[in-house]
Parts: sequence; structure tokens; C-alpha cells
Amino acid sequence: MIRLHDTMTREKREFVPQDPKRITMYVCGPTVYGRAHIGNARPAVVFDTLARLIRREFGPHSLKYARNVTDVDDKIIASAQAEGVDPSVITARYERHYLEDMGALGVTPPDIAPHATQEIGPMIAMIERLIELGNAYEAQGHVLFSVPSDRDYGALSKRDKEAMIAGARVEVAPYKRDPADFVLWKPSAPGVIGWDSPWGRGRPGWHVECSAMIERHLGETIDIHGGGLDLIFPHHENEIAQSRCAHGGLPLARFWVHNGFVDMGAEKMSKSLGNIVTPAELLAQGHRGETLRLALLSAHYRQPLPWTETLIAQAKATLDRLYRTAGNAAAGEPDAGVVEALADDLNTPLALSRLSAIEDPATVKASAALLGLLRSSADEWFQGGGDAEYIEARIAERAEAKKNRDFATADRIRKELLDKGIVLEDKAGKTTWRRA
Ligand SMILES: [Zn+2]
Repeated sequence: MIRLHDTMTREKREFVPQDPKRITMYVCGPTVYGRAHIGNARPAVVFDTLARLIRREFGPHSLKYARNVTDVDDKIIASAQAEGVDPSVITARYERHYLEDMGALGVTPPDIAPHATQEIGPMIAMIERLIELGNAYEAQGHVLFSVPSDRDYGALSKRDKEAMIAGARVEVAPYKRDPADFVLWKPSAPGVIGWDSPWGRGRPGWHVECSAMIERHLGETIDIHGGGLDLIFPHHENEIAQSRCAHGGLPLARFWVHNGFVDMGAEKMSKSLGNIVTPAELLAQGHRGETLRLALLSAHYRQPLPWTETLIAQAKATLDRLYRTAGNAAAGEPDAGVVEALADDLNTPLALSRLSAIEDPATVKASAALLGLLRSSADEWFQGGGDAEYIEARIAERAEAKKNRDFATADRIRKELLDKGIVLEDKAGKTTWRRA
């Protein structure tokens, strides 16, 4: 039995799926305009671990896990303009980096990765439905969701209406009937990415992307909706309002699962504060993806996680110890205590402490696999030099640099790998590697 904390009810409940053969989970994914930082990696690792647990409990094919890619956004447009390229150049580059970085952390790609730019039709259809139902209105080329039309608005964040309006009032656009109303569609200036719509050429607001993609790929009510704590308001509140109003009052999700922040010093790690550290930087410094994954799982997912050098060093020491116990054994059956800890609202700190107490190599290996750990053999781990996934990711990065005729970067990557004892060999357009 899995128990999960639901942000909507603020309590831990037994997770009973609607259909145990088709469990649906949606997690808000990256906006692809820059390299992901460790704070961005936390939900990817947390929900990957939850996916492993669900598949163990309900069967390997029981889960449909979708994580979207936001590939149209004002920040993407600004980056594209700054580089003088099409937005698709920016989004393709950073989506690839995202998958490489998360791959190095042992994150299995989700079953479905819908892209906003590929789903404009369903978004327009949902906006049209909301207008018909009286939950949305058109004003000056924009379409806005009418917050006062939804009596249940605010149920997830439990914010009081006055506070929300006061927040929204800071800069009220003239086309809004109510300060809390939010954008479903906005016009695109000539030369800016846009699509034809009943309201003129424009692009969708961020919130409606998720509602439309969830409906299309997973259904009207899903089992689990996940994301970082910072998405509760306004993003998830707005997703709920759109979906519930479009679906005759049906709830969007049965469980709302939110992970806490990664902190740098006294503050949340965030791009806007400029206090970020990326998996790419840490991997380039020689840390292994598994070390970073274990560090991310060392705190309970709902707690803040202070990111420090000591945390990384402890994670590395723990992995060394686990690999010494596991040796080169094949996985057996996981330890019941580890499974039980994970099933209790993904209590990874307890699972890790129980894992450290196991002495049987095959049990350690199988139990660690539930956390996405001990993916290599002990021989591979202690040989060092970075794991294969990391090396492959760097080779892909070097190939991309060469394609863009950025030979300085390509040479730097070759040199960085050589410093770690990895030799690259280019033959017939293919790059292979070996240990020096
Ligand atoms: Zn979302």
C-alpha cells in the first residue's frame, strides 16, 4: 500500500488509483531556454522515484507518466531574439541538454513528453469551450479566464481571495475585468512566434498548456499531478480552474504532490536570484550522476534541501559504502523495510538509512534500484572517471559544438574527458571512447 501526501487535502492518504492498470501521472516539465539547475532536477528525480515505486507496486506497465516541455514562452522568445535565431533552435538545444542532464541523474524519460507547440489545436479548443461556458472572455486580442466565474477558485493554495487580488493588483492590465483574471491566449506581434486562432494570431498562456495536454494525453481526471512547491500558486490553481470548469466540475487530479525547494545558503536556488549550480557543472567537476541523485534524495521530498559541498561528499561516501557491500552481485529481491519506507509518502531518508544496514549484496542491489541507485557494477564504480551515461552526454555535447563549428568548445570537452582518463576516438563520423 502506497500512502501519499495530497496538497489539496493537506493530509497523507492511501493511494488508490482509479484504474490500477492505467495509473496516470502528470508533472510540469521544463521551460527550455537555459540549462537546468539542481533545483530543477529535484522534481525530475523525485517523480522518477515515485514512478519506480508505482511500477513495482502495480506492475511495470501500470503507469502512464507524462511530463510536458514548454517550448513557447516569453523567455524563449527573448533568448531567440538575443541570439538572432529561430525559437526552435533554442528549445531543441535546451531540451536535449535537459534530457542529457536528467539522464546522468538516472531519470528515465517519461512515457509521454507533449510539446506545447505541437498541441495548439487542443489548447484553442479548450479556450473556446471555456468562453462558451462563460468562464472566459475575449478582450483586446487576449482571452482571459474569469476568476470570479469559478466559485471554487483557490481550493489548492487556500489563499484568501482578497490576498490574491491584492497580489494581482500590482500591475493590472487594462483588458482584465477582474485583477485576478489570467491569460489563456495573447496576441503575437509580427515577427514573433504565433498561431492563427479565432482571436487573431497569437500564442497560448502557460497554464492552459498543461490543462489541454493532460486532457488530451491522460484524461479529464488524473491520479497524480506533481511539481515543485512554487507551482501551487498560481500555476496549479489556474490549471485546476481551467480543467474543472471545462469538464463540468470533475476534479483535475486526485492527488497533488509537491516537492520542496533546493536551497543555496539561506535562499531558494533560482535563476532569478543567480545562485544556481547546474548538474552539468557538477558533472564537469567530476561528480557522478548517481552521487547527485543520492544527494537529492537524502532529504524527504517535501522538505527543503540545503545544497552544500558536504552533502555531495556524504552522498559519495554513502555510495562507496553501498557499492562495497553490493560488489558485482546481480539484483535479488528488494528489502521489505526499504519498500515500506518508500511507500510511506516516499520517505527516502528512512529508505536510505535502511539500505545502509543491509548486508546481503543481492538485496542491497535490488533495494537501491528502487531509488535509481547502484546502476553500475562495483568494478565500474571504483574504476572512476565518470560513468558511461555522463561520457555519452559529453560526446553528444561535443558533436553539437562541432556541428555549430564551435571547435573551441569541442576541444575543451575532449580535454576535460582526457583529464579524467577518457580517450575519445573519431572514426567515420562516429565518436567512441575508451579508458586511457
Ligand atoms: Zn503545469
